[in-house]
Amino acid sequence: MIVCKFGGTSVQDADAMMRIAKIIEERRGLHPVVVSSAMGKTTNRLLEIARTASRGNQQAALDLLADLEDYHLREARKLAIAVSEDPVAEKINSYFKEMRDLVYGLSALCELTPRVSDAMASYGERLSTAILAQVLENQGIPAQLMDARQCIITDDQFVNANPLPGETEAAVARHLGPVLRDGRVPVFQGFIGSNREGVTTTIGRGGSDHSASLVGAALGAEEIQIWTDVDGIMTTDPRMVPGARRVKEISFNEAAELAYFGAKVLHPATILPAVRKNIPVRVLNSFKPDQEGTLITNETQPCENPVKAIAYKKGITVLHIASTRMLMAHGFLRRIFEIFDHYRVSVDVVSTSEVSVSLTVDETSTLWDLVTELKKIGEVNVEGSQAIVCCVGENLRNIPGVPHRVFSALEDIGIHMISQGASSINITFVIGEDSLTEAVQRLHDSLFRKTDPRIFV
Ligand code: ADP
Ligand code: ASP
Ligand code: MG
Repeated sequence: MIVCKFGGTSVQDADAMMRIAKIIEERRGLHPVVVSSAMGKTTNRLLEIARTASRGNQQAALDLLADLEDYHLREARKLAIAVSEDPVAEKINSYFKEMRDLVYGLSALCELTPRVSDAMASYGERLSTAILAQVLENQGIPAQLMDARQCIITDDQFVNANPLPGETEAAVARHLGPVLRDGRVPVFQGFIGSNREGVTTTIGRGGSDHSASLVGAALGAEEIQIWTDVDGIMTTDPRMVPGARRVKEISFNEAAELAYFGAKVLHPATILPAVRKNIPVRVLNSFKPDQEGTLITNETQPCENPVKAIAYKKGITVLHIASTRMLMAHGFLRRIFEIFDHYRVSVDVVSTSEVSVSLTVDETSTLWDLVTELKKIGEVNVEGSQAIVCCVGENLRNIPGVPHRVFSALEDIGIHMISQGASSINITFVIGEDSLTEAVQRLHDSLFRKTDPRIFV
């Protein structure tokens, strides 16, 4: 069997849903499991509705909710679904009624807890899959709408819950196995799960990719397909560099590094379950289903270009911590990292000198408490509006001349931090956000002026 995950743009309207039905029809023989995101920007809109309600703006929240209901009903009706009192119409109606109840509650309490935020966000995927399962049925593909909350079992960290591997694997096999054996196509919500008590959780923004790889790993899939709105993994974000090229093949390590450093095309947690079971992952364009996309496996193909792709992450804050007491003192770094651990803030890039440490963070909700604590051990400087740029390629560390090529392309751009060598596959640096576009474009020009046709299209 294979897993086919469709992102928001790939299910954004009736036309997109029909494209998916065709994609699934053509893969019937491979026993596909469908994993779907919410339609278009629905998750953003649901979270905005929850925030609006919790600020006490009940009517504004209800108006936004009514727009979202119109959108879902309009697209469903174009597909001849929800035209009368059919079961899908009933489902959509009851979901919107439940959401209106949430809006009343939130506007009365004027408080939005992570738990209620997840309850609200979960309707996006529940709506899209209810419609999609019916679209498949109407196209003659026997489909079965599943409830991912019975399968993706997580801890209690609402909004960013962590799936529990053993329990999730068992539950996925238990619920999806019989449906597949019955010859039906399971239609499964990405992004949502539940904790052990059965309370709805979500596994982080963009998390449907992760859901797909958990399902694929649990069922021992032959391939995990991530269907999105670009041709595959590209040499960089095509929104930043329109001339970005498709990478035909890339290793698990490279893809994981790119995802971690901001290449939104894959959620950073996607690769690990696939690696564990050695399942190839393929990134494909749902608008051009005949293209071969990008194949991600544990193999590295020979490639003339040392760098396979450039990732970037905006909205980064750099903390410079200096202390003369650090001089020759042991335990200083431990104390710093204990503080980060306490505030559950993860650090992406680190560099040190004799008397100072610089670190990047992209989580700023607890930043000021963290900084207050750090000030007890040294002088702290905070630099906001920074960006991380990361060049990724297997074996970069061992290829001479790459740092020279990278940094000479950036000659006049101020570089605030550099990190290379922690892993053999990346060169990472930090610059001001305002130079980001210029830097990535120039780097891309320099690194991909000539491309190896075995790897790039
Ligand atoms: P989906 O809704 O299908 O999950 P996302 O918006 O999460 O899609 O991810 C796809 C987007 O990722 C693309 O539209 C593109 O702008 C962005 N992206 C960033 N870096 C890359 C890259 N290296 N290759 C391809 N896409 C990238
Ligand atoms: N719908 C969720 C989000 O927008 C999950 C996803 O699309 O992967 O974050
Ligand atoms: Mg995504």
